[in-house]
Amino acid sequence: AKAEGGNGAQAYTPDMDLGREWRQQVEAEMRGGIDRAEFTVLYQPLVEARTGKIIAVEALARWPGRRGEELGPGDFIPVAESSGLIHPLGLLVLRRACTELVGHGQLRLNVNVSPAQFRHPHFESEVAAVLHETGFPPERLQIEITEGYLIDHPARANRAIAAFTDMGVQVVLDDFGSGFASIGYLRQFPFSGIKIDKSLAVGLGRDPKALLLVTGMVHLANGLEMSVTAEGIETEQQAALFRLAGCHELQGYYFGMPASLAAIEHLPIRSAA
Ligand code: C2E
Ligand code: CA
Ligand code: CA
Ligand code: CA
Repeated sequence: AKAEGGNGAQAYTPDMDLGREWRQQVEAEMRGGIDRAEFTVLYQPLVEARTGKIIAVEALARWPGRRGEELGPGDFIPVAESSGLIHPLGLLVLRRACTELVGHGQLRLNVNVSPAQFRHPHFESEVAAVLHETGFPPERLQIEITEGYLIDHPARANRAIAAFTDMGVQVVLDDFGSGFASIGYLRQFPFSGIKIDKSLAVGLGRDPKALLLVTGMVHLANGLEMSVTAEGIETEQQAALFRLAGCHELQGYYFGMPASLAAIEHLPIRSAA
């Protein structure tokens, strides 16, 4: 728990040491886990809204080898980001996903990239090296980036996006609508698409405003010639409403949980309701 000092600054509490110790321990374990390539990838399908066909998968990092309590990416990605381990971890995930997916027909691969990776001056060439090494076609790769640092380094971000676009790799803005700067970002950076944050799915069907918001986002994106993916879809009704709003791609537990590639190939097609 946080304790507030009189001037609003955080006062010391023993919990903070615990938090710091926990981070340091996870960081140390993660270092070893990356060296031993313990991190694996699950894939969640993205379906084409019009046909229900799986056209892409999103790679989601997992750490099954860790002893003790299992940590999800919501726990270990922030530690990786603050320690710099996100660089080797991100490349491990990318290499593994490209290797596993390269033989799977025309499926596109969506990979999450932290702003810290994106900011790294060698990031584009590192991605290019992994594509070359695995034989994965750049046109089948889509990078998902969350807002955060871009606004502080717009020149660097624009250069990186342009470099990827030149390579044939698409860059999309993840978690659109979850922050404050999102609309400004669309004007400032040449994304090839947006992913509407899953918090929007929750309200859809219950709150008429949510549908209006989503429809507005789709119009905005269409006007900028950007694709629109909706994520976090858990029900048939949400799927129908996102389709109605004009989203191009849909993703969520309704269409398939993160799973192995073999499991994804056996999923039923859930086409337009
Ligand atoms: P994200 O990129 O927004 O990914 C979507 C998250 O929502 C995933 O959680 C996914 O399992 C979950 N999800 C999918 N469908 C549904 C649904 O219908 N309902 C709900 N409630 N949730 C759904 P996960 O796998 O725990 O990943 C959490 C976050 O960790 C990701 O959010 C992403 O930001 C980050 N992450 C995961 N893998 C990587 C990675 O390799 N690199 C980086 N930099 N970040 C990653
Ligand atoms: Ca994502
Ligand atoms: Ca997201
Ligand atoms: Ca997220």
